[in-house]
Order: sequence, then C-alpha cells, then structure tokens
Amino acid sequence: MELKLENYETPVYEIENSINHIYIKREDFIPFSFGGNKARKAEYFIKDFDSGNYDVLVTYGSSSSNHCRIIANIASSRGIRCIIISPSEESKNTFNKEFMRFFGSEIIAVPVQNVHETIENKLQELRSKGLSPYFIPGGGHGNLGTQAYVDCYKEIKKFEERKKIVFDYIFFATGTGTTQAGLICGQYIYNDDRKIIGISIARNKQYGKNIVLESINDYLKLYNYPINEDVINKMTHFEDKYVGHGYGKDGSRIKEIINEMMMKNGIPMDQTYVGKAYSGMLQYIQENNISGKNILFLHTGGTPLFFDYFLDGIGYK
Ligand SMILES: *Cc1c(COP(=O)(O)O)cnc(C)c1O
Repeated sequence: MELKLENYETPVYEIENSINHIYIKREDFIPFSFGGNKARKAEYFIKDFDSGNYDVLVTYGSSSSNHCRIIANIASSRGIRCIIISPSEESKNTFNKEFMRFFGSEIIAVPVQNVHETIENKLQELRSKGLSPYFIPGGGHGNLGTQAYVDCYKEIKKFEERKKIVFDYIFFATGTGTTQAGLICGQYIYNDDRKIIGISIARNKQYGKNIVLESINDYLKLYNYPINEDVINKMTHFEDKYVGHGYGKDGSRIKEIINEMMMKNGIPMDQTYVGKAYSGMLQYIQENNISGKNILFLHTGGTPLFFDYFLDGIGYK
C-alpha cells in the first residue's frame, strides 16, 4: 500500500437538499480497497509497521469488518502474512469475508469471550517461532487511528478556507469512536465553533462517549496539549438515539433512505454504518429544527457491505 494521503484529499460536494446545505465528503473514494475510514487509518498503522522490523500483521474484527478487509489487502499487496482473529458469533457470509479469504489471510474464529486470550497466545506463538508480529487493534483504534482523523480534520479546514465556507455541523457514523476522537481533537486544537456529532451505530451513549473521551485524552496527552475536560466534554456529541435494533440491524427508515440515495445521487450507503448514520442525521436535523446551515456528512466507506445489503434483495423491496 503506497497511499500518501498528505497528497490526496477526498472529494467534497453538495447534494440536493431543500432545508440545509448538505455536503458529503467521500472517504469511500480513498483509492485503496474500496476506501473508507479504515483505509485512512490503515495508512498510519502501516507506516508504523514499516518503521520496525515486523513481518506478520495480526488484527481483530468480525466477518463484516471493513478494517480487516483493508489490512488483509495491504498484506496481500506486500506478500506478507495476515492473521485475523474473528468472533464466531458474528460470522456471516459477507463480501468483506470473501475478500479476506481472497487476499489469503488466515482467519481464526473463536467465541467472543476468548478473543483476547487467542490474540495473546497467537502473538506469543509467532514470537516463539522467531517472527515479529505487528498487532493492529480492531477497527484501527488507538492514537494512530486518532491521528488519521486529526489530519482529516485539517483537510476539512483546508477545504473550508479554499471554498470560503464554514461547516456548522459535521456528522458521521461512530463505532469504535476513533474517527470521532480525531475530529474532536482537531476541533479542540483549533478551538473551532461548530458541532461534531457522531451517530452511534451500536454502542449506548454512556459507554460509547466514554471511549471517545478516553481516546481524545490519550491523544492530547501524547502530544502534551493542555487538557480542559469541561470543554472536551461539551464538544463530544455521541448520539445513540438512532441505533435501531443494534449493530448491523435496522432502524426505522434506513432502507428507504439507502434506496433513495442510490437512485437519486448514485451514492452507495451500507445499512450498518453510513446508511444508519445518514438516516440518523436526517432525523436529528428534523428533531432539532435545523435549517439554512452548512452540514458536512462524512461518507466513511463500507461499500462491500452495501452490496451485501443489495444482494439480500432488500434493495428491490
Ligand atoms: C468502522 C466504520 C465506522 C466507524 O468508525 P470508528 O472510527 O470505528 O468509530 C464508520 N463507517 C464505516 C463504513 C466503518 O467501517
């Protein structure tokens, strides 16, 4: 993977909306393995991998993980081994899983409660064979992932300066919270006045928000930024109202919204992340009577999941 996002900006453009100015930033266009926020984060982990003497990639994620697909693709592009520990409960036949197999990664499926121990044992086993494994946390969580979205925030600011526009809101799907943590660190560092709202795709507010706050604190501490907890807390909007029936499961209007988005704008949105977040954003806008504002929505990727959805026949109904 020779992605250098310093020289690459994902496109941002306005789509038709009668109430607000809604812009979409196409993170799904990052030019590697169907892109998405996991591709942006992966670049930072791979730089770290390259700076040491590592020879095996080990990571964690479910059969629908975009992160695992991308790491597996990076490994195949370099001809190195990739081991994926996967919770057996979440084992579905998905395009992401097919790609992981296609890229030749070794998938170890274990019950979710054994995941941690399996990772530890695997790393030890590899080391005892004289190998040097590099572990990437599930979803590309951690300071390197946060850094990727601090840099994305800078990219958004560059766009604003160039186009003489200010986004009042930034919305996106929040899962492990790394994307959100990076964006909020950016807002905090530049002291910008706007609302950054993560639409939860699974976690409840208390748990999800705490993890985002932890990630923000970890990052700011690492670079010795002064920490004002009150300000950070107020900047962190973790919205769990639109989770629906949980991870990968439907909320109320997701299907209609996904279908209409593809029909009218030619933009694929999956139902686990991007479609759920977009639908949540529309509800949020309505419930809070937001009008005449500049709103940025991050399309965080997940295109193979869109095809799972489409193949299920939901798209036709
Ligand atoms: C992982 C993922 C997210 C959530 O990102 P986090 O940084 O884990 O919060 C959103 N959208 C897509 C398509 C993803 O794959």
